[in-house]
Amino acid sequence: MQPYPSQLRDLPRYPLAFLPTPIQRLDRLSASLNGPTLLIKRDDQTGLATGGNKARKLEYLIGSALAEGADCVITAGATQSNHARQTAAAARAAGLEPYLILYAPGGSTPPQLTGNLLLSHILGAHIHWVGTRSVDAYNEAIRWKAEQLTRAGHRPYVIPYGGSSARGIMGYVDAMFELAEQIQTGVATRPDVIAFSTSSGGTQAGMLLGGHLAGLDGIRLLGISVDERAEDLRPTVEALTRQGAELLGVELPDITQLIEIHDNYIGQGYAVVGEPERKAIQLLATTEGILVDPVYTGRALAGLIDLIKKGLLAPVATILFWHTGGDAAIFAFSEVVNPSSAP
Ligand SMILES: *Cc1c(COP(=O)(O)O)cnc(C)c1O
Repeated sequence: MQPYPSQLRDLPRYPLAFLPTPIQRLDRLSASLNGPTLLIKRDDQTGLATGGNKARKLEYLIGSALAEGADCVITAGATQSNHARQTAAAARAAGLEPYLILYAPGGSTPPQLTGNLLLSHILGAHIHWVGTRSVDAYNEAIRWKAEQLTRAGHRPYVIPYGGSSARGIMGYVDAMFELAEQIQTGVATRPDVIAFSTSSGGTQAGMLLGGHLAGLDGIRLLGISVDERAEDLRPTVEALTRQGAELLGVELPDITQLIEIHDNYIGQGYAVVGEPERKAIQLLATTEGILVDPVYTGRALAGLIDLIKKGLLAPVATILFWHTGGDAAIFAFSEVVNPSSAP
């Protein structure tokens, strides 16, 4: 295992997550697939108003906000954004006011107050609704909100969509050192593949950079896209990885060959629950008693199951499914069990 980078240790960080997250074996799921050894890393258990991958990123983002003397944070996401809910909780934990830019059709408050949106309300987030779901629309609304708050005498800290910035991805650089230690101490066998859900690219970028720095280079990082085409997401992941390396002042070899994104599981699009994720969610629940969400982790698991069944990953001995969270969203998607209830 490589030494923990002192530049990473020196970055401002605010403790928010329950770490290290556990790693479990999925023997029943593995048997039901006739598949290789399957492990799961439980980042759905990071805490912070029900957990998820954003807790790791937010430790560095909130740390940076406090170091800059901010008194509030602004971020953006979809109606059922896990990132928005975790940002609201993180801000509250650090004594900052949370401002959220959220998408809903028509740009107005959606009728259903449930799932992550309910939790963001309980956390007292200030919510502004927008009617366009795109990274550009989010960033424009964030800029507008930041100006408005600054004019009113506040000191806002902007957290980009998905928490994916050079600072944010440090959460997953750190996570790869956590994994390396779990491998070294026998908590987990070294996987050949890590499969995970990828969307704004920060988790993947952090894993790439952290895997390289922690000496886990040989492990294949298999990102399963939930909404973006691989050719659109790839440059984002590459840019974030480079920005992260710059922030740490480390040399990065050519990583372009290591950015693996599967975009054939997008189905009908973001947050539209299809048969593959419905089946994957129920399979994991009924074989292992573990929940994944319909938007991110259920889709990623469905992709992984498909790749295993088609033998496209062979030969591999051990696959680690990195559970990135999303549990709170499940309550907003009754169509997981009852397809005719889809909006
Ligand atoms: C945000 C999110 C992801 C995707 O992570 P990115 O860093 O945005 O690629 C995956 N799973 C869940 C549950 C998320 O909330």
